[in-house]
This record gives sequence, C-alpha cells and structure tokens, in this order.
Amino acid sequence: MRVVLRPGASVTATAGEVDRLGLRRVLVVSGARGADTAGAVADSLGDLCAGVHAEARMHVPAEVADRAVEVARERGADGCVAVGGGSSIGLGKAIALRTGLPLIAVPSTYSGSEMTPVWGLTEHGAKRTGRDPSVLPRSVVYDPDLTLSLPVPLSVTSGVNAVAHAVEALYAPDTSPLIALMAEEGVRAMTSALPEIAAEPSDPEARGRALYGAWLCGSCLGATTMGLHHKLCHVLGGTFGLPHAETHTVVLPYALAFNAPAAPAAVQALNRALGTDDAPRALWALAGDLGAPRSLAGLGLTEADLKGAAELVAGQAYANPRPVTAQDALTVLEAAFAGRAPRAAATSPLI
Ligand code: NAD
Repeated sequence: MRVVLRPGASVTATAGEVDRLGLRRVLVVSGARGADTAGAVADSLGDLCAGVHAEARMHVPAEVADRAVEVARERGADGCVAVGGGSSIGLGKAIALRTGLPLIAVPSTYSGSEMTPVWGLTEHGAKRTGRDPSVLPRSVVYDPDLTLSLPVPLSVTSGVNAVAHAVEALYAPDTSPLIALMAEEGVRAMTSALPEIAAEPSDPEARGRALYGAWLCGSCLGATTMGLHHKLCHVLGGTFGLPHAETHTVVLPYALAFNAPAAPAAVQALNRALGTDDAPRALWALAGDLGAPRSLAGLGLTEADLKGAAELVAGQAYANPRPVTAQDALTVLEAAFAGRAPRAAATSPLI
C-alpha cells in the first residue's frame, strides 16, 4: 500500500497513482457536498476518469452501495477513486467488496478509514461491518489543502475519532510494540494539531500534521481489534442514529476511564502523548476547550435509550481489557450522557 502526503497531492498525484496501478477508467466517488472537490480530482485524471458518482451517504446504506456498483459496471470502470470523508471511502470500499475493483482513497477528514480493510454497510436499520483485504485502498493520497475547508467542529470531532482508534489499539489483544509506537505518535500528532487548527483553520502545517496523525491512527485501527469504545459508538450510531465522529468524541474519555485500571501501559503511553497524568480527563478537557460536544444528551440521545444501548453492548462479543457487564456499560453510558468530568483513573476503578 502506497501513501502520498503533500499539499496539492489530490490533483497533482492521483493520476500518477491511477497509472501506477495500470488503471485506465476509474470511477470517482464522493458525497454530494464534496462533488466540487471530486470534480477537480476527476479533471486532473482526464481520460483516466470514467465519471463522478457523488451519492455517498453516512454509514453506506445498502441501496446506495447497490446503485454505485451498478454505475461502476455501466461505465466499465476498472478501479475506483474515493474522494472525501469516511462516508465516501466507505462507498468506495463497498464497490471494491462487491466487484473486486482496486480502490484509491483521497481523504478529506481524519476518520482513518483509508488505512483499514474494514467495510461497513447499513441495511434494515442495522450496520454490519467486516474485514476484507480487497477493500484496503491500494494507494492513499493525503492532501492537506483538501482539508482546509473542513469546518473546525468537524475537524475536531473527526480528529478525536482518529485518536479513539489509537487508544483502543494500545490495549487491543493483538497490539504490538510497533503499533504502540504508532498509536502514541498518532495521538501526539493529532492532539497537538487540533488546537492549532481551531485557532487557525487554514494553517497548512497543522492540517498536514493532523493527516499524518490520521494515517498513524487509521493504521492502528486496521491492524488491531477494537474494544468497548468502538462497540458503544457502533451501537449508538447504528441503532440510535447518533452522528459518528461526535459520538466518538463524547464517549472516548468515559470508555478509557473504565478500561484504564486494566490497561496501565496504554494509559502511560497516552499520558506521555497528551502531556498529562490523567489521559481520560485530558481528552475530555480537549473536547471542551475546542467547543466539541461533550454529552450524549447534547447529541439527542434520551435517558430512556441508555438501558437498551447498554444491553446491546453487553450482549455482543468483543475484545476488551476488562469484562463489561450490562451494568458496567450502563455506568459508562450514564456518565457520557451527563457529560461530567471522568474521574481520574488512578483514584477510581470505575468512572
Ligand atoms: P463523513 O465522510 O460523513 O463527512 C462528514 C461531513 O463532512 C459530510 O457532510 C462531508 O460532506 C463533509 N466533509 C468532508 N470533508 C470535507 C471537507 N474537506 N470540507 C468540507 N466538508 C467536508 O464523516 P467521517 O467522520 O469522515 O466518516 C464517518 C463514516 O466513516 C462513518 O460511516 C464511519 O462508520 C466510517 N468510518 C469507517 C472506518 C473504517 O475503517 N471502515 C473508520 C472510520 C470511520
């Protein structure tokens, strides 16, 4: 897998990546809001482009995937270039999964999806995810210029979404010394970039550092098995319709506070990366300082939903450094619902 990271790369390097893979007719996919950017990438591809399909939607509804596969076949595409956030890349992965066409990703958020073989599809109100090597992009083109237009609130929540991958990779059962290095560096890069982006959204250096962080954090997600935090967010997004990156931002400090007593090495690495002695609280403070949402209530969840969500989470098998009962999941969700400061992990075995 190749990675290109430089300003302007989306229009100056994508054609080279297409050519390097021997492709001659790629379909460019994006969301409706990213159609202009996708159009600029398509223009840079010239005759290598078989058309632009700007119909990506959050969580890849099955009918959206079906239509995109049809369009790829109608146009005789021999590959796909996904331009945009995790939703566009998710649609590119759905095409790759069904057709085997190679995928190139040109990310415009910090979700990290471009570095993983994880696909997702939503059908009948439930989101299914899986891993398949065929959906891992063959090339990733990171262009800081493409992210200059990403509004600060989305930049912050998308950045914390990436941080969440690194956090759970640090205590994953299949973590490794290499992943630990990448995760710590990814958290350091992203959390140092976000305040600078919030202060100056057009700072190209901070934007580039955030993409570097997304690359590292996304690689950690791709290489390891996620735990309680991702399961909570999966249920809150898939079943209760909460927005993806915002939900990650709210839940992460509480999931980490719960797992911290069972994951001391992970917490030490995070403390180093964040320059703190209380990583859950530092993540909670970062979100607050940058104006991000900090409670599930603020995202529209109701108190009546908490018990059902906790039961769904506890009823599923997933890797986690601590066992999670329905009562544990409810305790984490109640704290995230209220948005109160997580207690220092060192002084509390719970939250
Ligand atoms: P998104 O792709 O839905 O984008 C959020 C919004 O930002 C959209 O309205 C989009 O049009 C807009 N946007 C994107 N880039 C922009 C830019 N540069 N300027 C202005 N607006 C821009 O959101 P996301 O958080 O990037 O991705 C979320 C999706 O990705 C979810 O479906 C999630 O499940 C998936 N995801 C998958 C993986 C994986 O490994 N498979 C990893 C992370 C996220």
